[in-house]
Amino acid sequence: MLNVIIFGKPGSGKGTQASMIKNKYGLTHISTGDVFRKNTSEGTKLGNIAKQYMSKGELVPDEITIAMLESEILGFVPCNGFILDGFPRTILQAKSLDNLLINLNLKIDLVIGLDVPNDRLVKRLLERGKTSGRNDDQSEDKINKRLEEYDKKTKPLIIFYENQNKFYSIDGVGSLNDVNNRLINVVDSKKND
Ligand code: AMP
Repeated sequence: MLNVIIFGKPGSGKGTQASMIKNKYGLTHISTGDVFRKNTSEGTKLGNIAKQYMSKGELVPDEITIAMLESEILGFVPCNGFILDGFPRTILQAKSLDNLLINLNLKIDLVIGLDVPNDRLVKRLLERGKTSGRNDDQSEDKINKRLEEYDKKTKPLIIFYENQNKFYSIDGVGSLNDVNNRLINVVDSKKND
């Protein structure tokens, strides 16, 4: 079993790369952003709460996000392994995830960060916003807010996972296949450890 976190700033390609590798390794892909968007479009209570934060480019509060993620994971266990995309995004989320996995006799094996400079991210997100239908991709103010949230709340996770010897950073600039190959190299080297 292999449990992977795909980590990075908004627009770094987490979702795309997670979709590309999930079949290769038979992993269950869990994207918290996708789950929130599904709930938002279905008008559920969770979706209506999440929307208030997502539409401003802010993180959804931990309590809500952690409960949602836990029920997603519990719904998929047992399985071949997970690829988590967009979770955790705060230290509290990461600690809660560790506790949940300990209770399930599981663990995170590796965290792969996609490294992309901010100016490229803003361009990518504005471009994606033309077709994604995501209103948080459509204004530079919201994109900047999301990048600020990353710096303030999510970036400290790099040290958190470095301290667990699980963090690997790869260059997230290049063609989808180039980035995918870099990712596969890291996963394969870890699998063969
Ligand atoms: P994403 O699709 O990963 O870019 O996430 C879109 C938005 O969903 C974020 O800007 C947050 O508002 C919300 N979101 C997704 N994952 C999380 C998380 N782990 N913690 C808090 N908010 C989240």
